[in-house]
Amino acid sequence: MVGPMASNRGVDPSIIHYCELFESIQGEGATAGIPAVFLRLTGCNLDCVYCDTRYAQRRTAGDEANATVTTTALAAELNGRRLRRLILTGGEPLLQRDGLSHLGSALAEDWTIEVETNGTLCPTPSLLSRVAAWNVSPKLPSAGIPPNQAVVPEVLSILRDSQRAWLKLVVSRPSDLISGDALIAELSWPAERVVWMAEGTTVDQLVERGRWVAEAAVVRGQRFTTRLHVLLWSGQRGR
Ligand code: SF4
Repeated sequence: MVGPMASNRGVDPSIIHYCELFESIQGEGATAGIPAVFLRLTGCNLDCVYCDTRYAQRRTAGDEANATVTTTALAAELNGRRLRRLILTGGEPLLQRDGLSHLGSALAEDWTIEVETNGTLCPTPSLLSRVAAWNVSPKLPSAGIPPNQAVVPEVLSILRDSQRAWLKLVVSRPSDLISGDALIAELSWPAERVVWMAEGTTVDQLVERGRWVAEAAVVRGQRFTTRLHVLLWSGQRGR
């Protein structure tokens, strides 16, 4: 596993491993509904029980999830597009943080970049400053990740201090709300930068869980999000 603060030793920073590149709307979080280009990078350092992008977890030779592109070619392709918002997702994009730093530098300045991360790996300084919105989802107990792997306070503190990070807490069961409250307090995370989200991969799950998660968000005076891509397209790939 790559350490949270170390550089990507052994990873070629001129190459990006990815499995999807598509245009859609942001489905979750504070910027939900905004049209964007999505780049889904391959590889993850966690294995959550509810992961809905398992096809992006591994980089296996010959696997469809093992497409590669140079950062230079990718930036040229993206710079030719009409949209100017890029969402880097995965998998865990920061496993390829050096490549993403190169990509961020090669993109035209009018690109707005968001990153979806599990908050266990620290971005490079140049990537930290280039990204406009960090959507950070440290895993709560229902994800099934040991706490010492799920929560890396030194990384979360760096992202919090960027003042461009949202703490997106994914809730599967009511006890996650208590765990999320404890994490917010432990990190001294600003309440206006918290987003509660119901976990779900079906419309029925999102509606049932979304009702009590939304009520819990109201009680706390904090933001709620659903998952528009699941409601609209049932989580179909490329949406
Ligand atoms: S961190 Fe995200 S991509 Fe990785 S296993 Fe968990 S849900 Fe899946």
